[in-house]
Amino acid sequence: MNFALVTGGSRGIGRAVALRLARMGYKIIINYQSNNAAAEETLALIREAGSDGELLKFDVSNREETVAALEKWQAEHPEEYIEVLVNNAGIRRDNLLIWMEPEEFERVLNTNLFSFYNVTRPLLQSMIRHKYGRIINMASLSGVKGLPGQCNYSAAKGGLIAATKALAQEVGKKNITVNAVAPGFVKTDMVEGLDEAELKKQIPLNRFAEADEVAAVVAFIASKDASYITGECIGINGGLYT
Ligand code: NAP
Repeated sequence: MNFALVTGGSRGIGRAVALRLARMGYKIIINYQSNNAAAEETLALIREAGSDGELLKFDVSNREETVAALEKWQAEHPEEYIEVLVNNAGIRRDNLLIWMEPEEFERVLNTNLFSFYNVTRPLLQSMIRHKYGRIINMASLSGVKGLPGQCNYSAAKGGLIAATKALAQEVGKKNITVNAVAPGFVKTDMVEGLDEAELKKQIPLNRFAEADEVAAVVAFIASKDASYITGECIGINGGLYT
């Protein structure tokens, strides 16, 4: 069985992606930061779906911790490699820039953008050796359009989209595709506290997305059917910004 790593796989969009990839036959490595119970629940759902997986807890914003966890995994699985990587873990800390503390800016950049470097780089070598890989980065509408109150988050996600396009050109010859998806509003813990009734008035489809509607697109990009798509950023926003 081939392996897929989903960062932030314990909850929300990451969990939905993990389940979709599990149904495609992947064994799922569920990364998360602290929520053991949620991660266990994702694993149980993966097993119910007929696949298997394992938990790999590390903080994607911490380079040493991330590299150590991935090297340990590889040492324990000398015959295997991670062929699908979904860089999904993310946080938001919204504030107007004039009020934004350095810690709010740095944490969001570290978790949403530097994590791309921390997680992807250690896995690239084996994808190149096997001449196959799928890397999917969870961006956001905020990184395409820029949203007020999110200078930190928009910068991180915009940077992630640019890195997606750059890496796609570096590794295309090795049969590795690199794409991003940019969801609008998705019903997860992350949007708790937002006024859905008010915000949905701006969305042509008049509702927030379900996590599985994002996962469906990620699963397609991860599939063999998406073999000629690379360097793209696919919007999943109900028409909010087209
Ligand atoms: P969520 O429900 O808040 O889940 C966040 C996930 O990321 C959890 O699994 C969490 O682990 C993990 N995580 C957070 N910080 C981490 C770290 N430093 N190291 C490892 N794991 C970490 O969020 P979501 O809505 O599913 O968002 C998933 C991705 O989609 C994010 O990149 C987000 O920016 C993006 N996105 C979301 C929306 C939306 O409307 N929801 C829209 C556009 C883009 P624990 O469970 O251990 O905390």
